[in-house]
Amino acid sequence: MDPPTRPTTGPYDYDMLVIGGGAGGLAVAKEAAGLRKKVLILDLLTPSVRGSERAPHVWSDLAAAVQQTVETRSRELMRELKNCGVFYIRAHGKIVESHTVEVTEVNGRKRRLKAEIIVIATGDRPQYLDTPGARELCVTSEDLLSLPHPPGRTLVVGGSSEGLEFADFLFGLGLPVTVLLQPDLLPGFDQKMAEKIENHMIVSGVETLHKCTLAKVEKTEAKEDGSGGSPTPTQSSTGRLRVTIITADGRTEQRGFDTVLLSVGRKASTGDLGLECVGVQCSPDGGRIPVNERDQTDADHIYAVGSVQHGRPSTTGLAVHAGTLLARRLFRGDTALCEYTNVPVVVLTQMEYAACGLTEEEANAAFGEASVEVYHSYYWPLEWELPARNKYSCYVKAICLVPEQERVLGVHILGPNAGDILQGFAAAMKGGLTKQQLDATVGLQPGSAQVFSSLTETQRMTEALMMRGNC
Ligand SMILES: Cc1cc2nc3c(=O)[nH]c(=O)nc-3n(C[C@H](O)[C@H](O)[C@H](O)COP(=O)(O)OP(=O)(O)OC[C@H]3O[C@@H](n4cnc5c(N)ncnc54)[C@H](O)[C@@H]3O)c2cc1C
Repeated sequence: MDPPTRPTTGPYDYDMLVIGGGAGGLAVAKEAAGLRKKVLILDLLTPSVRGSERAPHVWSDLAAAVQQTVETRSRELMRELKNCGVFYIRAHGKIVESHTVEVTEVNGRKRRLKAEIIVIATGDRPQYLDTPGARELCVTSEDLLSLPHPPGRTLVVGGSSEGLEFADFLFGLGLPVTVLLQPDLLPGFDQKMAEKIENHMIVSGVETLHKCTLAKVEKTEAKEDGSGGSPTPTQSSTGRLRVTIITADGRTEQRGFDTVLLSVGRKASTGDLGLECVGVQCSPDGGRIPVNERDQTDADHIYAVGSVQHGRPSTTGLAVHAGTLLARRLFRGDTALCEYTNVPVVVLTQMEYAACGLTEEEANAAFGEASVEVYHSYYWPLEWELPARNKYSCYVKAICLVPEQERVLGVHILGPNAGDILQGFAAAMKGGLTKQQLDATVGLQPGSAQVFSSLTETQRMTEALMMRGNC
C-alpha cells in the first residue's frame, strides 16, 4: 500500500509506526488501526548470505509449493492490511531521532516520517558460525527451501527445535541426515523429553553426534548428477562438502555431506535500527531489547514486541497476543498485560512435542525436588493400534507442586498432534489447574488426551521399580 498523502493533525505523520511486519508487528498494527489510529508498517527482509547469490530456484515440487504458499499468503496479508486501514511500505526502517524514522525503500529512495509511538517488531535472523567455510558454504533455515537442488546428505549443526525439525523433515523426505548437537539437545526444553525425542529420531534412522564441534567446511570436486532426469531427494546435483569435525574425545574426523544446515541460534535484528540515538539498550549477547511489563523500552514512546524482546519466549502466538494487547493498552485504555509465563510451545518433529509451563529442571530449581511430583505415562493412540506401532513412543508427564495442592507447573506431551492436545491444558493452567482437577476430569474415549485424567504413576515410583528390578 502506498503511504498516505492526506495531511495529518499534530506534529506526527502517524499515530504509530511499526518497524517489522512479522507476527508481532502485524498484530499490533491491525489492532491499532481497528481502534481508528493511523498506523504505518515498514517491512523489509534483507537477503540472507545465500539468498544474495540469487540461485535459480529449481528444486522439487515441494519447494515450489512452499514458495507459492508464501507468496499467496503474502498477497492475502496485503489485502487484509488494506481492509484494516493499515499503511504498508516495503522498506527498511531506522530510528534517527526521538520520534523520527528514516525509511529506505527497495529502490534506495529515502524519506523521514514521524510517529507519536514507535513499535519495534523486527524479529531475529539465523546466526552463522565463525568456522572456516561456514558463511560461504553452509545454509540456514532461511535458505533451505530455496536451494537450487535437493539437499542430499545433510549435516544439521545445532540441536535447537529448529535444527531437529529440519533434520526430521529432511529425513522424512528420504535424505540421510546427521545432527551435530552443538552445544546441546533442545536447550531450554525439558531434558528428559529432549532425550525421548532424540531416541525416537535415532530409532527412525537420524544420526546424532554429541559434544562434537564443526571445525571446517570445504568444497570438494563438483559432482554432477548424470542421470539426466529430475533429481530425486537423495541425489545432489552440486559438489559435495568436506566437513571437519572435532569429536568429543578430541579426534579430528572428516566426512562428506552435500549440505550443511546451520541452526545455531538466532540474533535479534537490531544492529541497524539506530537504537543508540534514542538511548534504547540491547542485550550484549543476542542484541535483544529489554522491556518492562508493558513491553516498553528505555524510551517511553518506543515499544518492542515479538522475538526481538530480551528474555522472553519466542512463538508466533505470543508475538500476536503481545502485539494485540499492546495496541489495546495504548489506544483503548486497557490495562491487561501480556503474561509471559505458561506459554505453549511445540517442536514439530515427526514425533511432535508440545509443552506448557516449567520443565522438570526449572521446577526442581525453583521449588526443590522434594516439593515436585512428576506424574507420567506412555500412551497408545487408537490409530496406532491397528498398525501395531510402538506402544512406548507416545508419552506425557504432568509436573506438580505438592505443597500447593499439586498445582500443575508443567504439562509435556510427546505424540501425534501434541500441539493441538496441549492447547486446552494451557488454558486450564492459566486457571491454576491442579492434579485433583485432572483426576476429576472425565476422559474422552477414544482420545489421546484422556491419558491426563488417569495419571497414577509418578517418576519416583517408576525409578523405585526399576531399582528393584535391577537388584
Ligand atoms: C524455522 C523456524 C520455525 C518456527 N516455527 C515456529 C512454530 O512452529 N510455532 C511458533 O509459534 N513459532 C515458530 N517459530 C518462531 C516464530 O517464527 C517467531 O516467534 C515469530 O515469527 C516472531 O514474530 P516477530 O513479529 O517478532 O518477528 P518476525 O516474524 O521475524 O518478523 C520480523 C519482520 O521484521 C522485518 N524487519 C527486520 N528488521 C527490519 C527493519 N529494520 N525495517 C523493516 N523491516 C524489518 C523482517 O524482515 C521480518 O519481516 C519459528 C521460527 C523459525 C525460525
